[in-house]
Amino acid sequence: MANEPQEPNNNDKKLPGGSPRFGTGLGALVLVALLMIVFVSGFGRLFQGSVEEISYSAFKAQVAVGNVQSVTVEGDKITGTLGKPIVGSAGAAGSKSFLTYLPSFGDPNLLQDLTKNGVVVQTRPESQFSLLGLLLNVVPFILIGWFLFWMYRRTRSQGDSIFSVGQNKAKLYRKTRESVTFSDVAGIEGVKKELSEIVDFLRTPERYRKLGATVPKGVLLVGPPGTGKTLLARALAGEANVPFYSISGSDFMEMFVGVGASRVRSLFRDAKAHSPSIIFIDELDSIGRHRGAGLGGGHDEREQTLNQMLSELDGFEQNDNTIVLAATNRPDILDPALLRPGRFDRRVTVDRPTLKDRLEILKVHGRNKPLETDVDFEKIAQGTPGFTGADLENLLNEAALLAARRGMSSIGNKEIDDARDKLLLGLERTNFVMTDEERKIVSYHEAGHAVVAVNLTTTDPIHKVTIIPRDNSMGVTEQLPEHDQHLYSRTYILDRITVMLGGRAAEDAFIGDITSGAENDLREATRLARKMVLDWGMSKRLHNLALGDEQHDVFLGADISRRREYSERTAQEVDDEIKSILDRAYDKAVSILKEKSAALKRVAEALLEKEELQGKEIMALVAAAI
Ligand code: ADP
Ligand code: MG
Ligand code: ZN
Repeated sequence: MANEPQEPNNNDKKLPGGSPRFGTGLGALVLVALLMIVFVSGFGRLFQGSVEEISYSAFKAQVAVGNVQSVTVEGDKITGTLGKPIVGSAGAAGSKSFLTYLPSFGDPNLLQDLTKNGVVVQTRPESQFSLLGLLLNVVPFILIGWFLFWMYRRTRSQGDSIFSVGQNKAKLYRKTRESVTFSDVAGIEGVKKELSEIVDFLRTPERYRKLGATVPKGVLLVGPPGTGKTLLARALAGEANVPFYSISGSDFMEMFVGVGASRVRSLFRDAKAHSPSIIFIDELDSIGRHRGAGLGGGHDEREQTLNQMLSELDGFEQNDNTIVLAATNRPDILDPALLRPGRFDRRVTVDRPTLKDRLEILKVHGRNKPLETDVDFEKIAQGTPGFTGADLENLLNEAALLAARRGMSSIGNKEIDDARDKLLLGLERTNFVMTDEERKIVSYHEAGHAVVAVNLTTTDPIHKVTIIPRDNSMGVTEQLPEHDQHLYSRTYILDRITVMLGGRAAEDAFIGDITSGAENDLREATRLARKMVLDWGMSKRLHNLALGDEQHDVFLGADISRRREYSERTAQEVDDEIKSILDRAYDKAVSILKEKSAALKRVAEALLEKEELQGKEIMALVAAAI
C-alpha cells in the first residue's frame, strides 16, 4: 500500500461534512440576511414609534410660533418634541414627536432661531453604535466574501477552473484501473525490454548506483504514427507498479501565456513528491519544437513551456527517482536542447513492424474476433508490408464490418482481402461508368505492367491485377515483396521503373494512342529516377555523388525552398541523366511487350472478362502463351 498513488488534483483535505451541507447552510444564511436587509431598510421606521416626519419649513414654522419644546441634533437629523401636535397633519396624527432633516446646504440661522425661541437643544455625535446600522454595513461584505469562498471551493472540487488554470493536468494511472498490459503490445520485443529495464532502474536504483551508473532521466520514444508508442506507454503504466503521470504535449497549451510553464512545474512537483514515478509526455513535438523557428514567428507560450521543461529536467536531484518518458513521431523538429545528454538522451525507436511482428499484432487483434478456420494470418502479414499496428487493427476492423454487412457470422479470407484493398487502393466506385473503349485501354495498360513484371528477374511477384475502378485509380497492378526489404539494388529500382512504364508502353504499342491514365505511373517513375541520380549516386555520369539535400521541413523554417548546391551545368546533367534512365526503361518495356505480345493479349482479354486476376492466374496465362 505504500506505493498507492494519491490523486494529484485533490491535495487539499475534504472538509468534514462535505459540500452538500455547506450548500444548504449558505442558502439559509442568504435568506436570513435578505430578510434583515428588507426589515432594516423598509420596516425599520415603523419601530421608531409615533414619530411624524415633517418638512423642514414646517419645522421652522413651528419654531417660529414657539411650539417646539426641545430638539436633538444628530448630524443632519433633527428630532424633537412639540408643545402640541400640528393641526391637520397626516401620518401619525396627533404625535408630539417629530423628525426632520437639515437641508444639505445648511441653515446658519437655525441655532439662533432655536435659542431665541427657548428651545432646549441637545446634540449628539453623528455616528452612533446601532445594531441595525452595523448589520446594514457589514452583512453585504460578509455575504460577498462568503460567496467568493463558496465558488472557490466548488470550482476546486471540480478540478478545473480559473482558479486552477496553472495546475497539473496529468492523468494519474492506477495499476488496477489500467487494462492494457505488455501482452497487448505485440512484436517490438526490443523496445519492451528496454522499457522494462528502465522500470527496473526505478525500483532498485542502488543496484545500478553501486556500479557507478546513473539512472536515465529522459527516454524518448520515436517512430511513425500508429506504431504503438502511446499503447506501449499505457502498458508500461499497467506494468510498472509506480505512479505514472500521463499527459499530452498539447495539454500544456492554453490561452494564457505562462500557464503551460506553470503546469510543467506542478506536474514535476507532484511526480517528485511520489517518487519513484514516471512522467509520460505524449506528442512531445507540440511543445518541444525548435525554438525561434517556424513560419509566422515565435510562439511565446510554447517557448516558455519548453524552457520550463528544460529546467525541470535539469533540476532532478541525484536521488529523485523520477523518469520522464516522451513520445513523438517528429524527432527532426525537436529543439536540440531537449536531446542533449542529461535530458532526453535515451532514444528508443519504435519502427514499423516486421513480417514477424505483423503476424503477432494480427494475433493480438484477432483474439476476440470470430474468424473462419482457413484465415491465414501469415499470408495477411505477408500482404501488408509497411502497415503499422494501427493499420493492422483497422484492417481487421474493416473486415469485421464487411462481414457484418454481408450478414456473416464470422470473418473470412475474402473479407480481409477486400478490406485490405479498400485500405490500400481506395473505395470501389460502384456507380462509375466506363465505356467499352476505356475498359479495353485500362485492360491493356494493366496487362502491360503485369507482363513486363513477369518477364523481369528482380521484381516482386504479382499479387493481383484488377480493372475495377476505385477512388484513386481505374485499375491496379499490385506487386508484393516476398519478405521485408531494407536495401534496394540498382537493378531492382531500374526494373521497378520499367514495370511502371509498362502500362504506357502497352497503350502506345497495342492501342495506337496514349492516355492520361499513366499520370501516377509517370510521376512515381520520375521520382525514383530523380532519387537514383540525386540521392543514390546511381547514374552513369554523376556516379557516387549525392547532390540532393537531406529533406528539410518547412516547419523548421530553415529553408523554405529546397536549396540547390550544384551549378547550372550539373543541373543540366541531372536532367539528362534522369531522362536517359526513363528512356532506356521505356524502350526495354516496349521491347518486352513486342516480344510477348501474345501473352499481353491473353492477359488483357482475361482482364476484360473477369475484371480481376490473381498472381497465379497471370503466371499461367503468360506461360501458356509461349
Ligand atoms: P502511436 O502513439 O505510435 O501513434 P498508438 O499507440 O496510438 O500509436 O497505436 C494506435 C493503435 O494501434 C493502438 O491502440 C493499438 O490498437 C494498435 N497498435 C499499434 N501498435 C501495436 C502493437 N505493436 N501491438 C498491438 N497493437 C498495436
Ligand atoms: Mg500516440
Ligand atoms: Zn499504370
